[in-house]
Amino acid sequence: MDNVIFSSWNGKIVDNRKGKTSKAPKRADITLPKLPEEEKPLALMGWNGLVVMNPEADIVSLTLRYLKEIRKLSCGECSVCMIGIDRLLDIIGEMAKGEGSKADIAEMKAIIKQVCVNSKCGFGQSALFPVLDSIKFYKSDFLALIKGEKKLEDKDYSCTVTAPCMEACPAGLDIPGYIELIKNNKFKESLDLICENCILPGVVGRVCTHPCEDACVRKDIDEPVSIRLLKRAAADDDLQHGGGSLNGPQKEREERIAIIGAGPAGLAAAYNLRLMGYGVTIFESLPHAGGMAAVGIPEYRLPRDILNHEIDLIKRIGVELKVNTKVEKLSLKDLKKKGYNAVFVAVGAHIGIKIGAEGEDKGYEGFVDGVEFLRDLNLGKKVQPQKKVIVIGGGNTALDCARSCVRIGFDDVEIIYRRSRVEMPASDEEIEEAEKEGVKFNYLMTPVKILAKDGKVTGAECIKMKLGKPDESGRRRPVPIKGSEFTIDTDLIIPAIGQRSELPVIPDKEKIEITKWGTIKVDPITYMTDVEGVFAGGDCVTGPAIVIDALNTGNKVAKSIDCYLQGGSLARGITFEGVDLKKQMGRGFTVKAPAQGVGFLDVKERVGSFEEVEGGYTSMEAMSEAQRCLRCYRVVVWEKAI
Ligand code: SF4
Ligand code: SF4
Repeated sequence: MDNVIFSSWNGKIVDNRKGKTSKAPKRADITLPKLPEEEKPLALMGWNGLVVMNPEADIVSLTLRYLKEIRKLSCGECSVCMIGIDRLLDIIGEMAKGEGSKADIAEMKAIIKQVCVNSKCGFGQSALFPVLDSIKFYKSDFLALIKGEKKLEDKDYSCTVTAPCMEACPAGLDIPGYIELIKNNKFKESLDLICENCILPGVVGRVCTHPCEDACVRKDIDEPVSIRLLKRAAADDDLQHGGGSLNGPQKEREERIAIIGAGPAGLAAAYNLRLMGYGVTIFESLPHAGGMAAVGIPEYRLPRDILNHEIDLIKRIGVELKVNTKVEKLSLKDLKKKGYNAVFVAVGAHIGIKIGAEGEDKGYEGFVDGVEFLRDLNLGKKVQPQKKVIVIGGGNTALDCARSCVRIGFDDVEIIYRRSRVEMPASDEEIEEAEKEGVKFNYLMTPVKILAKDGKVTGAECIKMKLGKPDESGRRRPVPIKGSEFTIDTDLIIPAIGQRSELPVIPDKEKIEITKWGTIKVDPITYMTDVEGVFAGGDCVTGPAIVIDALNTGNKVAKSIDCYLQGGSLARGITFEGVDLKKQMGRGFTVKAPAQGVGFLDVKERVGSFEEVEGGYTSMEAMSEAQRCLRCYRVVVWEKAI
């Protein structure tokens, strides 16, 4: 965006119009939302200013359109915002009819100031600042409208609405929207809004690592809004009222889609494609659908009735699910013969990665990979408690294994991690709960040799580590300390340092490119592989990711398959990379209020039981927590040349 003619973005005025002297900003000076270049944008008006790129832009009409868009988001709770925007719209309408006067401009400025000062939420306090800029810096255009020298025109516009939390959520959920519905006791409506992009709300409301909360504006005031728990509250409320149902397709289509893998990515794609009217069959090798949510997460974090209920709802709209059905060979030709028009490979990542210790391939009794351990446990296999177990790794899978061992009844459960606590990828909540349950953490060490006697594990030879320079992940690299080897005695070793996929065999002629990491290569926009009609996504493309990432991929793949079958292309929208979404021109006074807490199962009751540990909100608690949201909506409207 080198050709900025005028900008008030972030309150910094750059004015390169005729007769003005300020210099054009360099790219480094101004980071704007990135608009789709093919639309040849002329000007944009957003929460943090007005930016004009082309002298042909019609600023008065853009202002009118911007006001119409923000009017949709004014909730009316504090009246001043809604009434103020309505009056501004009326004034511009009167100007266009020849009923305006110069005094209207002064009135507009006064209204904007009143709304910014007296609105209750972040949206009302900031949304009108760019309108003030347009009146101030493009006053002559408003005067021309008043004099009848200019007309209002409905140009071609695009609009997007986001928020700091929405941009941080991998699926871009309308977080302020669903929170506001909860605030107004509209739990079902809130759930419907969540389900538009997150078809497993009760699951995600329990297990999401909630990057949205790190981005929450409220975090800088007191504590972030409990976005995840509010999502869970919407799902739990629905279940308490009978469990509802999902809307099915409006029309049926002839084409059929095969989905390989019933994990979150496969389920999300299946739901969306079915909603579009396609016939959908999911082939799942395990006895249950849900992928890692079913076999990789223990029940004390995700009760199975929650997952099963949400899968049932998807099945009820007509998605066919074939469990215990492993697709050994992937051949589009064969699938086409069976009547499928497209395939989505979403097999997940269910194979543990080697730790690189001598003896790990010997098949010793007492050496069990973490994903396999959790899968067996979740599929009902009984594990006999022993004296001691060591779990290798620092992610949530390692924590899940360790905390499960506490429940099974091991006397001594220890985690070995090669870096320090700071670099541990597991969430703080998980680490804190594990510590409460008695799990011991050993940092800066790693096993180099598995020790065994008569084919059974007896211990591990470990080496101490120190932290070196950061690696490509940004975390400091662990470096072994020579001569620091020592031995730990143990009955069971569970390595849990990561997962990879087990891909179906692909016949030669239909070659799908596999990356050096063993993942499937796809087009980053369409998710199509090198073989036409074969799409892939989820953990088998990205490597292990969180549930909401997989759901987001499933949503996108469904759109892409629809475009492939019906013709059409996927729209590339606006992006906000490098834009500080927390920054806004106005922020009023917010009364501090800590987040509403939830209860946890007593630590003593956790041993020997897989009962859910974290409690949820009551309706009243959820409504009270929802009050804390500041509605930090960020609206951007831009005029397009095409
Ligand atoms: S206060 Fe509400 S809208 Fe603002 S970032 Fe937090 S959750 Fe999102
Ligand atoms: S899915 Fe996760 S990241 Fe998205 S809003 Fe919910 S808790 Fe936040």
